[in-house]
Amino acid sequence: MGTPSRTRAGQAGNGLAKGPLKGLRESGPAHDPSRHSSSNPNNPLSPATSTSDSDQGHRGLPRDSTGSVEDIAPEIVVWTESMDNPSMEIDSPGSMTPSVMETVTTPSLTTLSLPTPDEATEEQGASLTSSLSIKLESSDLSSIPPSPSSSKATTPVDIDSSKELLAQAARPSHTGDTPRRRYNVRPKVSIPSDLPAAEYAMQCISAAESSRLNPYALHEEEYIMLRDHISHAQVTTYLNIRNGILRLFVRNPQIAVTREEAVGCAKDPRWFDVASVCFDWLVRGGYINFGCVEIRPSRKHANNKDLPADGKRKTVVVIGAGMAGLGCARQLEGLFLQYSKKFRERGEDIPQVIVIEARSRVGGRVYSRPFTSRPNHVPESFVGKRFTAEMGGMIITGFDRGNPINILLRGQLGLAYRPLRPDTTLYDSNGKPVDLQRDQLVEKLYNDCLDRVSEYKFQHPSSKLIEGNRELIDEGKDSSAEAHKTIRQAEESTAAQPHSLPVSEQNIAPQVNRVPVSSDRATGRVHTEPGTPGALKAAYKAKLMGWSIKHGVDDNADLDIEPVTKEPNATLGSVVDKIIAQYREIVDLNAQDYRLMNWHVANLEYSNAINYNQLSLQGWDIDAGNEWEGNHTMVVGGYQSVPRGLMHIPTQLDVRQKSPVSRIAYACENNGGPATVECEDGSKIEADFVVNTIPLGVLKHGNVKFTPPLPSWKSDAIGRLGFGVLNKVILVYKEPFWDEERDIFGVLRCPPNRHSLDQKDYASQRGRFFQWFNVSKTSGMPVLLALMAGDAGYDTEQTCNDDLVAEATRVLRSVYGSKVPEPIEAVVTRWASDKFARGSYSSAGPHMRVDDYDTMAKPIGNLFFAGEHTSGTYPATVHGAYLSGIRAASEVLDVILGPIEIPNPLIIPKEAASLSLLKRKAVESKDPTQARKEAYEIALWDHVIAEIGLRPLKPNKPAVSAYIFYSKAHYEDARTACAAGRRPGKGKPSAIEVRVMSAKMWKDAAPEERKKFENQAEEHKRAHAKAMAEFNELAAEWDRKATALKEAYEREHPSVPSREELELEERRARRSKRAVTSYAESEDEMMGS
Ligand SMILES: Cc1cc2nc3c(=O)[nH]c(=O)nc-3n(C[C@H](O)[C@H](O)[C@H](O)COP(=O)(O)OP(=O)(O)OC[C@H]3O[C@@H](n4cnc5c(N)ncnc54)[C@H](O)[C@@H]3O)c2cc1C
Repeated sequence: MGTPSRTRAGQAGNGLAKGPLKGLRESGPAHDPSRHSSSNPNNPLSPATSTSDSDQGHRGLPRDSTGSVEDIAPEIVVWTESMDNPSMEIDSPGSMTPSVMETVTTPSLTTLSLPTPDEATEEQGASLTSSLSIKLESSDLSSIPPSPSSSKATTPVDIDSSKELLAQAARPSHTGDTPRRRYNVRPKVSIPSDLPAAEYAMQCISAAESSRLNPYALHEEEYIMLRDHISHAQVTTYLNIRNGILRLFVRNPQIAVTREEAVGCAKDPRWFDVASVCFDWLVRGGYINFGCVEIRPSRKHANNKDLPADGKRKTVVVIGAGMAGLGCARQLEGLFLQYSKKFRERGEDIPQVIVIEARSRVGGRVYSRPFTSRPNHVPESFVGKRFTAEMGGMIITGFDRGNPINILLRGQLGLAYRPLRPDTTLYDSNGKPVDLQRDQLVEKLYNDCLDRVSEYKFQHPSSKLIEGNRELIDEGKDSSAEAHKTIRQAEESTAAQPHSLPVSEQNIAPQVNRVPVSSDRATGRVHTEPGTPGALKAAYKAKLMGWSIKHGVDDNADLDIEPVTKEPNATLGSVVDKIIAQYREIVDLNAQDYRLMNWHVANLEYSNAINYNQLSLQGWDIDAGNEWEGNHTMVVGGYQSVPRGLMHIPTQLDVRQKSPVSRIAYACENNGGPATVECEDGSKIEADFVVNTIPLGVLKHGNVKFTPPLPSWKSDAIGRLGFGVLNKVILVYKEPFWDEERDIFGVLRCPPNRHSLDQKDYASQRGRFFQWFNVSKTSGMPVLLALMAGDAGYDTEQTCNDDLVAEATRVLRSVYGSKVPEPIEAVVTRWASDKFARGSYSSAGPHMRVDDYDTMAKPIGNLFFAGEHTSGTYPATVHGAYLSGIRAASEVLDVILGPIEIPNPLIIPKEAASLSLLKRKAVESKDPTQARKEAYEIALWDHVIAEIGLRPLKPNKPAVSAYIFYSKAHYEDARTACAAGRRPGKGKPSAIEVRVMSAKMWKDAAPEERKKFENQAEEHKRAHAKAMAEFNELAAEWDRKATALKEAYEREHPSVPSREELELEERRARRSKRAVTSYAESEDEMMGS
């Protein structure tokens, strides 16, 4: 082809909150206000709302968008010339009508007054230096010059390209005479004190996962940034801090995390600078403080008083107001505000950001076009919403596991959305539902075809895995081990050993191949799981799937697809067509099987917006494994509310619409002079930096000129990547006549020769009206939306509207009978004819190279690139486009501000810190009261145990899942089953394959077979319950005796304070009379003492 509470965790009593924010925090629960937010049913990020299947998330004031639009007489309104409908557009900044924002509500954003992170640091004037301000002559972890031989790898790091990574991809960092920051913060202040450590850890882990980061391992950029500064043993503590900072943002994304809050995630002042560096990395990389979050400029600088008279100001021009462009512009605005102090220090105002958009609307390929018709009756839930057709991006493919649209849509804009019910009925070409068993059988065969081509996919380079201690991270504990070598030193000394691995091959993540197992009917995406592609012989596999083998075909019969894959123009389609033809020799495939098979092919062509004969054999599934989790959903009233929200919230972006760009003159080298963006009307804007989000289709078309012309490495990638078309026919009816309980249904299409068993005959028809969405709940009227995929997508561009509507009606009548009426309104998209899109989305062209998407993303001098076609991880999607905009914004900031500054040493070694800080600890550990109490406690328990022995042990929890017993008993069978029918050269089945097989065997096991293991599990459950009852009795008895013994001991041997203790107590009382305003201050006192 996504009203949090206004308070943040763990800040009670830190004394930092000011102004309205302070008030807000104080109104929350005493210790962990964010926990309050998580259980708030209005919090869109809370589990309560994410699982409901009704309209969700809307908390906006209803505004009537329908008032100004007359009810239209029943007529068919078909778009023909321009897909944009200027008369209905409402995006000009000056003409913001209530309907623009009807579903975008940020009730409390305007009340926020947040200092920027820098301001927070600066304005807490009374702050004192952290313990890290101790001057150190030498340190075990002091920076060493980078070694040319070492790897730049991280998690994941491409070994081969790791050198390049260091030079280009990695967020630069700078180690030098960076002055240490001062933090007016106490350690742990951002960690809720009333949350059990394991619960806190769980929230942190889940926050990292929701931010697309591995909670247990360093990201490649973190690795590169930190490898000279921390040791392997210190990775755990770093990750705990990083995950803690992410938790702050994820739990309340309407509030920007400040540097002080981030630093408060450290449990020890020695780690304050690490937390601060991590904060910079998270902010710059767009992991926190992104989207529609309000960041106030420093009050101190807001009035430009300290700007020099000639007030320099940089300009960044972003071309395109789609998700990439608006995402980038919004991110740049946020970053510039957060780093406003840096600009002031250079005597500059913060840069201005201008978005140039060709159309008279924003959103680009996210376009919710208003219908002209209105429903007879507007349901309550739809009052104030727009009645729209989703012309482009429509489905949010799950909110979980890091979709940034989750933060934008639910966490910040509070938009209403609806899950798409996944059940799909497939209707045959005669209108009858397809037999479910046959449907499943053919789907398995189709997935096996894709499994066999997976063997030829690009191998993703091995990646480096620098992990923390998983157990400690799960328990929310830092590592006490420190080690004496930085990661780099450790890697290099290992590499220096005889016969040992070079740095680039150390700590490599295991290579995981993925094989297709099912396909998503709503999106056409193929689901994969780890396994060995094409491992089994065809006849054996067909039998496993449930097919009968043709008479006379040997069980060992196999396919021979090697020759077709070697053909110079081999594509996914050419090879799969061949596989299907060869399977026809092994199993009986009839014409209906071909129709079914081609329905799935059409679905795949929908997700790639192109005929599968135009897809790279190696790269068609390059983003496999990057899917989100959770329901597919749609936005009530239109997805375009998201780009609109990005444009308007928290402040209006400077978007200049109706300004098609015709030429971009840029400087190939940085500092090579300004760029000039020229529009079709001859107007020009000078810019220091340009971010180009013009779609790949437009770039291919060549009517936007570049001066100088783009280098061949870029233009060749533009040529190789594919850009096809998916179109939609959207039909509005007076009343629904379809099954309203279903959101999706499919229709199998016949080839011109109805009974053909030749794949080629199916290509032209398979994608015509093959997939239908009932979008009434999100459009506000009875609406069906049909997809035109593959060749049908292109045909739509050439077919007249009447013919399309007539064909759609014929298809619907075949399913729902002759009473199906004509639609009252129809909208047809023609994305390939659209001058500012030239197609729908990118795909893996037949000659694509593995790194083409990365090449598309690479900047040239002061010209940067974003857009869905620059994201190899999430291409062809709304979220991919948005993330690419964030990435480009970080690149621009890095060029302007330079790398993240890293103090040296980053972490004060324990020994050095002890000169001052540990002195206090030493005093504490020698605290006679503490020592007396500890000794007393030990003696008391020794006495109890000597009398009645140890407390009885709780019985271990038994395995209560019948499947576990089954898989243990059948492990060998599963292994043998995996090995059976295996093709030569495929090696032994991996543990994952055996597990998958064992799960499958369990699923297929007869009820009697399962019963045995269910009984076994039941037996264990009963035995455990009995043991628990006995334990509870014994434990209660033991506790009773222990309490009695304890009381007696305390009576007979009371613990009395010594003279030394009494004197110390007196000294403490004297000190406490002096004013102590912060932890850091008292700490400094200690240092000076
Ligand atoms: C039919 C269809 C269905 C889709 N379905 C889904 C889906 O269900 N889920 C999903 O996640 N994604 C889907 N997508 C993909 C998704 O919509 C896109 O990947 C995403 O919106 C692209 O965003 P972008 O910012 O990269 O490009 P665009 O949104 O195209 O933004 C580029 C902007 O540049 C402007 N522009 C172009 N030329 C010029 C010029 N010369 N001068 C100035 N401005 C110019 C354009 O007008 C446009 O506003 C679908 C797309 C289509 C077309």
